[in-house]
Amino acid sequence: MLVRMSITGRFAPSPTGILHLGNLRTALASWLSARKAGGRWIIRMEDVDGPRCRRDLGEAQLRDLERLGLVSDGPVVWQSGRSLLYQEALASLHRARFLYPCACTRKDLQVMASAPHEGDGLRPYPGRCRARAWEGFGRALRFRLPGGTVAWEDRLLGPRTEDPALLTGDPLLFRRDGCFAYHLAVVVDDGAQGVSEVARGADLRPVTATQIRLQEALGLPRPAYAHLGMVLAPDGSRLGKRDGALGVEALAARGVALPDLLGWLGWSLGCQAEARPCGLEELISAFDWSRVPKGDVRLPAAWA
Ligand code: GLU
Repeated sequence: MLVRMSITGRFAPSPTGILHLGNLRTALASWLSARKAGGRWIIRMEDVDGPRCRRDLGEAQLRDLERLGLVSDGPVVWQSGRSLLYQEALASLHRARFLYPCACTRKDLQVMASAPHEGDGLRPYPGRCRARAWEGFGRALRFRLPGGTVAWEDRLLGPRTEDPALLTGDPLLFRRDGCFAYHLAVVVDDGAQGVSEVARGADLRPVTATQIRLQEALGLPRPAYAHLGMVLAPDGSRLGKRDGALGVEALAARGVALPDLLGWLGWSLGCQAEARPCGLEELISAFDWSRVPKGDVRLPAAWA
């Protein structure tokens, strides 16, 4: 008997601003991959990060996705309503002795992260509080990473072997201000929602080994990963704050109609040989991870 393995893909934006072209490209890739496999695709709003997250921004993001035709199968989950789930996960990690309280202030962390990591954007936590005795929940809590490298496979970047201690160090799971941290919420929810394929921006590639360690500690299955390159300015530089505002609406105001946008996004994902205007459905059959460019892509000069 032929058993068809299906997938559940997801797009998990943080509602802190508008969705720019890079986000839209990632959302489309995960949707196309799920649809091509006859699987499910869900949207999750990652709004645990306190005051930076706004409901109205999340709703605007959902409207933009809908304009492209990207609609969640099943209700959109907002992480701010799932504290109980995260609390239970923390309790289970505590029982297994994975947690320790962290008393480091932002300033301490800045001092500890001076050279050689300065400038490269990665500041692994050096483990200063690892030996601190448990002081109860309600403190900032870190996950004690088990030692050793993690071997994992990226659909775009191929096999990788990484040491999370050198990338993030012990990640913060609960913050001093009472918020659950991103690493905890993302891992718990991917597990709870049965997500089997995570497509996201390459900026999150360095945290993947850490999240895999957390999945293992919680007894959750490991999804497949695909980290997509960034969308750069036409000259190859990083998009600045102003260009970052290039969302569906700003592009429409510049005369970029939806079929043009879909055509460009589809081209940038290897679904068509040129950026010919098209509809969403016609991209499905052409989508294949082996054709998605591994690196960054440049914005068309006419849109910049
Ligand atoms: N919410 C995260 C972000 O917008 C993405 C999380 C993920 O895809 O794992 O940066």
